Amino acid sequence: MKKIGITTNVPIEVLIAAGYRPVDLNNIFISDPDPEHLIKIAEKDGFPINCCGWIKGIYGVCMEYHIDTVMCVTSGDCSNTEMLMEVLRYKGLKTIPFSYPQEPDETEMQNTLNKLAMQLGTTLDEAENVRKQLEPCRKLADRLDTLTWKDNTVSGFENHLWLVSASDFNGDQEKYEKELSAVIENAEKRKAFPESNIRLAYIGVPSVYGKDLYRFTENNGARVVYNEIQRQFAMAQPVKSLAEQYSIFTYPYSIEDRINDITKELEKRKIDGIIHYVQAFCYRGIGGIIFKDVFKLPMLTLEGNDNFYLDQHIRTRIEAFLDMLQRNPAE
Ligand code: SF4
Repeated sequence: MKKIGITTNVPIEVLIAAGYRPVDLNNIFISDPDPEHLIKIAEKDGFPINCCGWIKGIYGVCMEYHIDTVMCVTSGDCSNTEMLMEVLRYKGLKTIPFSYPQEPDETEMQNTLNKLAMQLGTTLDEAENVRKQLEPCRKLADRLDTLTWKDNTVSGFENHLWLVSASDFNGDQEKYEKELSAVIENAEKRKAFPESNIRLAYIGVPSVYGKDLYRFTENNGARVVYNEIQRQFAMAQPVKSLAEQYSIFTYPYSIEDRINDITKELEKRKIDGIIHYVQAFCYRGIGGIIFKDVFKLPMLTLEGNDNFYLDQHIRTRIEAFLDMLQRNPAE
């Protein structure tokens, strides 16, 4: 199967049906042993300092890992991707643009998916078959999520890692299924985290801090039991069609869709406080103005750039936030 880089969640079922092996460039970037180096490649080639680290990281991955074909989401993700696509094309890579429909409408989505399938030389029926093949992986992701917030036996980082990896199933769905089954089997036998833990929601794009953020909260009597975007990426809700699956995906659409989804989960998961992560230079951070108003829970906003660990300043802010939550428990 031919490898195809993806810049965010895309209908991978169509890509797989067309004979591609999707690889999420974000996941390669953040799991690289030296992500700073990938950012430096982009900056050396002229990407400005004030460009989002994820965009630079994706570019660095394309250069360093010799990716030759990339599907770029040009509507429903990030305006920076449009120019990234131009640069990649200029550098000789094959780029395939993909636009989510303006509204999360199933008929429009069906047309969009049909068009994409035709463009890639496959059919929507073939892609629907792939959806069914991926169902066991998505069900496992859902089980892991339940073990995180309900049974309290899965850590926030494990939840983040397995859900975010569902964007491409680490390029090998069978391996993903096997490995996640083993994690779940093990988690089902574990002792639950203490009831006294502060329950946190993490909303916003995945952070550059990776494990550090989750470990630090856990070492300080708290635990992330809800990873908003990662859960969206896993698309674990049962659906009847790809059109439905990609229409209930909130990430490409209005903040209102995200708020409705988040509100339900905050209540269901008995959340005490929210960490809202924003990436430096990302337009999505502006949405924090609305989040602060609509969510009636204490919220800590963290902004990360290309620092891949929690520095002392951020640690102190998290400690103060957790201390405040401990003193003023949610009713
Ligand atoms: S973090 Fe924001 S600016 Fe960066 S790639 Fe994602 S959407 Fe674009």
